[in-house]
Amino acid sequence: MSASSRDKDKSVNVQVLLRCRPFSEDELRSNAPQVVTCNDFQKEVAVSQTIAGKQIDRVFTFDKVFGPCAKQKDLYEQAIVPIVNEVLEGFNCTIFAYGQTGTGKTHTMEGECRRAKSGPKGQLPVDAGVIPRAVKQIFDALEGQHTEYSVKVTFLELYNEEITDLLAPEELSKISLEDKQKKQLPLMEDGKGGVLVRGLDEEIVTCADEIFSLLERGSSKRRTAETLLNKQSSRSHSLFSITIHIKEATPEGEELIKCGKLNLVDLAGSENISRSGAREGRAREAGEINKSLLTLGRVITALVEHLGHIPYRDSKLTRLLRDSLGGRTKTCIIATVNQKMMKSTLIKDLYGEIDRLKAVKKLLFPEVYATREKVGVYIPKERYYQEECERK
Ligand code: ADP
Ligand code: MG
Repeated sequence: MSASSRDKDKSVNVQVLLRCRPFSEDELRSNAPQVVTCNDFQKEVAVSQTIAGKQIDRVFTFDKVFGPCAKQKDLYEQAIVPIVNEVLEGFNCTIFAYGQTGTGKTHTMEGECRRAKSGPKGQLPVDAGVIPRAVKQIFDALEGQHTEYSVKVTFLELYNEEITDLLAPEELSKISLEDKQKKQLPLMEDGKGGVLVRGLDEEIVTCADEIFSLLERGSSKRRTAETLLNKQSSRSHSLFSITIHIKEATPEGEELIKCGKLNLVDLAGSENISRSGAREGRAREAGEINKSLLTLGRVITALVEHLGHIPYRDSKLTRLLRDSLGGRTKTCIIATVNQKMMKSTLIKDLYGEIDRLKAVKKLLFPEVYATREKVGVYIPKERYYQEECERK
């Protein structure tokens, strides 16, 4: 394979988008400087930081940038529609929302799902996020095809490497922490090279509205569990999966079943990696690091770099997504940021990703890697050499 066709493959299979949300009211009031500047529907974002009175500007390139004026619909139509079409063709695809807490991951993935049910049939609220829009696209396509099909949905949460079912029917408000811990579901090999979560509710749905109710039930359960168990939502991942089987006849009259799966993942806040810092290596406390987030970065890096060993087995999230990352699948990472960093540490975290988060940084800031050999200005020299040494 030539270098250029390999590069083409990479950009086709793993796409990284940046979404920068509008100012919040607090940000408008605060006199913190604007750090991230981007125009809608471009590929570049400018990040400026003042260090010791000196302004340092850097530009990062993504597959696409959605600035503060980009609406949910814009992001969906420009970036997600083709991915969902792949799923309808029988492939497995995964969409991640990745970014610090408060930058709009849940807004991007779920947005207004609640109102989706009550609107006129077939209409979504303007703030509906990727999940309700994908559900609508899937059912619009299936219902228009007049073929036989089935759609199944699961919705789970991963917190501290423990899986809970967000669709399980029990009354969460009535159970204690102890009961809750008993509800952890085991992840097992299915004997066919895949994995299964024993006891996970798999709901068969026949129309988009049913999925909206499930989504609403699952998300409200996630919020209730957070309050009840006093845990930080920023540390948990949620995984909403839609599996479709479509029965088709080949031109020769043979029956063909196409099976596609769409995984929609609202990841834990990226500060959960930066804080513990990959640099601290083995010295860090085991409980401190978000193993799934870190492993995900390693898996994606290994896939993008075509490494022989892909460490899927190292975390639950990557085990769960194994059949949907790599090979003939498509992956889209929506990295979310805000324009002002309210605390000085936040900008450090953003750069921290370049500095410490070895796993995902190449994906999040591919430009740094594409150009540093030539330009060499994006990464301070000592860091560059340190990394080169680590690599050897
Ligand atoms: P996260 O899930 O990353 O912690 P949220 O999705 O909860 O962040 O977003 C934080 C706040 O910002 C919420 O009040 C959300 O409604 C708002 N928000 C995020 N992104 C946007 C956007 N693109 N447009 C308008 N409001 C947004
Ligand atoms: Mg969230």
